[in-house]
Amino acid sequence: MADQLRYDGQTVVVTGAGGGLGKAYATFFGSRGANVVVNDLGGTFKGEGASNKAADVVVDEIKAAGGKAVANYDSVEFGEKIIDTAIQAFGRIDILINNAGILRDISFKNIKDEDWDLIMKVHVTGSYKCAHAAWPHFRKQKYGRIINTASAAGLFGNFGQTNYSAAKLAMVGFTETLAKEGFKYNIFANVIAPIAASRMTETVMPPEVLAVLKPKWVVPLVANLVHSSNKTETGSIFEVGGGHMAKIRWERSKGLLLKADPETYTPESILKKWDQVNDFSQADHPQGPANFLELLENAQKLPPNEQ
Ligand code: NAD
Repeated sequence: MADQLRYDGQTVVVTGAGGGLGKAYATFFGSRGANVVVNDLGGTFKGEGASNKAADVVVDEIKAAGGKAVANYDSVEFGEKIIDTAIQAFGRIDILINNAGILRDISFKNIKDEDWDLIMKVHVTGSYKCAHAAWPHFRKQKYGRIINTASAAGLFGNFGQTNYSAAKLAMVGFTETLAKEGFKYNIFANVIAPIAASRMTETVMPPEVLAVLKPKWVVPLVANLVHSSNKTETGSIFEVGGGHMAKIRWERSKGLLLKADPETYTPESILKKWDQVNDFSQADHPQGPANFLELLENAQKLPPNEQ
C-alpha cells in the first residue's frame, strides 16, 4: 500500500466548509494532520442570512476526532480576514480551497442585477480575495497550493444559470493565470468541476443519483492536487464526482487560413470553406493562442480567396 498522504504542520483554508463538499475537505485534512481553517458564512444556498453554527459544528467534529481546527465566519468577499485567521491561529497558510458557493437560478429573461452581482461577488470576487490575501505568504515561503471550484454549468452552460455559469467559467481563466504566475514560486493552482450530493443539488437531482454522489468521493483527487508530492500538475481542469475523475482541455481545429486581401477576404469567402473551421480531424490541444506570426506568413503564400 502506498504511504498515506499527510499534511502535518501545514495550514489549509477551506471556504464554505460548513457543509457539503467543504465539510468533506475540512474533515479530511483535519484527519491527515493539517491545521484547518473552517470558513463558512452560514447562510442559505441562495446566499441569504448568516450563522456561526455551520462552521462551529465542523470545527467541533474535527477537534473531537483529534484534529486541529478554527472557525472563521466571514464572507469570502472579505478573504483577507479569512487568511488572517489562518495566520493568527497557526502562523501560516499552505493550501487554499476556494469552495464557498451559492446559487441564484433564474432564466436570463427574468434575471435581476442583484442575482448577477451576488453570484459574481461570492464566486469570483470571493475566490480572488482569498487567493490574493494568501499569495504574498505563498510567494514568500515558495510554496502554495490552490483549488478553485468551477462547475459543469460553467464549462457547458445550463438553463437558468447564466450568472452561475459565467462565474464558474471565470474560475478556469483565473486558475490558468494563477498557475502561470505562480509556477516559479512553487505555487500550483488547479480547478475542479465537481459533482456531489449537497443541499445545492438535492432539489435538482433524483435521490438514486444523489445516493452515489457523496461529497467525500471528490476529496481524494483534491488531496493529491494540493499535496507537496504534486510537482507537475498545475493549471489543469478536472471533472470529478462519484469516484470518476477526468481531465478537460481545450481543443482547436486546424482551422481555415485565408489571404487577408481587402478584395477577396470577405464574409462569403469564409462561408465557402466553413467546413474547415469545424473540422477537428487535425485538431490540437493548445496551451496558448495560435502562432499568428507563422499563420500570417503562410497566408501570404496562399492563392487568392474564392468568393
Ligand atoms: P453547499 O451549499 O453544501 O456548500 C456551500 C457552502 O458555502 C455553504 O456551507 C455556504 O454556507 C457557504 N457559503 C456560501 N456563501 C458564502 C460566503 N459568501 N462566504 C463563506 N461561505 C459561504 O454546496 P456544495 O455543493 O458543497 O458546493 C461547494 C462548491 O462546489 C460551490 O462552489 C459550488 O458552486 C460547487 N459545485 C458543486 C456541485 C455539486 O454537484 N454539489 C457542482 C458544481 C459545482
